Amino acid sequence: MKVAIYPGSFDPITSGHLNIIRRAAKIFDRLIVCVMVNAGKHPMFTQEERVDMIRRVTNDLPNVEVDSSEELLAEYARRKGSCVIVKGLRAGSDFENEFQMALINHKINPGLDTMFLTAEHQYMYLSSSTVKELGKYGVELSDFLPEEIIPDFKKRIANAFQGGNRNERTEY
Ligand code: ADP
Repeated sequence: MKVAIYPGSFDPITSGHLNIIRRAAKIFDRLIVCVMVNAGKHPMFTQEERVDMIRRVTNDLPNVEVDSSEELLAEYARRKGSCVIVKGLRAGSDFENEFQMALINHKINPGLDTMFLTAEHQYMYLSSSTVKELGKYGVELSDFLPEEIIPDFKKRIANAFQGGNRNERTEY
């Protein structure tokens, strides 16, 4: 049974992430989408909220499970009995960083390989941070976020700017 892990911040999950999940779920027997905690970032959604949103949008995919972890990814993969990490590649700018991470993960856990799926053209420019920026200006989000989580996102944006101005630094 081939178990793959798709790690990320997913703050929040975008349509680009979901596209990678759907494609990877067809390739592997089991896909674990794992929200990784990054101490350096100030997320918009808590770890639990991010897990919950991913669960809701992947409800129809029986071989996809959602988890979160503060472990080193290579150790997490070993514990889960997985030998493959799935990553999405948007532009060349993703490549440098991802290539380095793939080599390091393989060094720490030689039984672990990274496989890259190229982003579909309509999602090439899409990132969680872009969506958060657009959200501040009330841009229509249905091309960027799964429908089920748009209300969660709008609510969080509204709370963040209550009584404030768009240029103020928010907690994310
Ligand atoms: P972001 O860069 O949006 O904050 P994450 O850290 O959550 O994303 O990314 C998790 C994984 O998803 C990474 O492998 C990243 O390259 C990939 N990814 C992010 N956005 C897209 C997209 N629009 N299309 C394909 N892959 C993507």
